[in-house]
Amino acid sequence: MKILLIEDEKKVSGFIKRGLENERYIVETANDGLVGLEMGCHPTIDLIILDLMLPGIDGLTVLRKLREAEVHTPVLILTAKDSIDDRIHGLNLGADDYMVKPFSFGELLARVRALLRRSSQQNSMIATVKDLRVNLMTHEVFRDELPIELTAKEYALLEFFINNADRAVNRISIAEHVWQYDFDPGTNFVDVYINRLRKKINDSVENKLIHTVRGYGYILKTK
Ligand code: CA
Repeated sequence: MKILLIEDEKKVSGFIKRGLENERYIVETANDGLVGLEMGCHPTIDLIILDLMLPGIDGLTVLRKLREAEVHTPVLILTAKDSIDDRIHGLNLGADDYMVKPFSFGELLARVRALLRRSSQQNSMIATVKDLRVNLMTHEVFRDELPIELTAKEYALLEFFINNADRAVNRISIAEHVWQYDFDPGTNFVDVYINRLRKKINDSVENKLIHTVRGYGYILKTK
């Protein structure tokens, strides 16, 4: 788990970094808003701890710009100002939690753990294959960040491929799982549906996901 700490006060930053590293988290630090924003956009960051009063650009601006850039990494705000306004503003901008300085390390750790637990539960509901993203809870499908409308059967077909990623599946098992009935091998309805799905997810030659396995069936390749 990698945590980004954006905090300009060396003492506070050092104290949090050491504490989290003792708990075996990987901690990267930024001591100004601009650097923090750039580092925060990186997809390997699991959580951002963000101070509000920062040189460069302030914490609320960092948060707003992260969310505008569609970065949904959980953010825990640290604020010295016990000002209700700032806290409400931060939560409105998409912060996940906040702490008022001074705080105990134990309290910070508890909140960090809760946020990481919550976000890993949400992430496990998202399947990603190259630039295809499928929310297994809501059944929303995106390719290259563009939403794709699928019928229930097309979605079931895609989900079957995802559950069997990098494994060749034959037409009979596809038909049994997606349509739940015995398959007459004389019909080509599986191929018809797969072609329809390929068109919808824009499965072009350059960045192909579903490949034909000649004489057998199909395979969804993740690499
Ligand atoms: Ca500060």
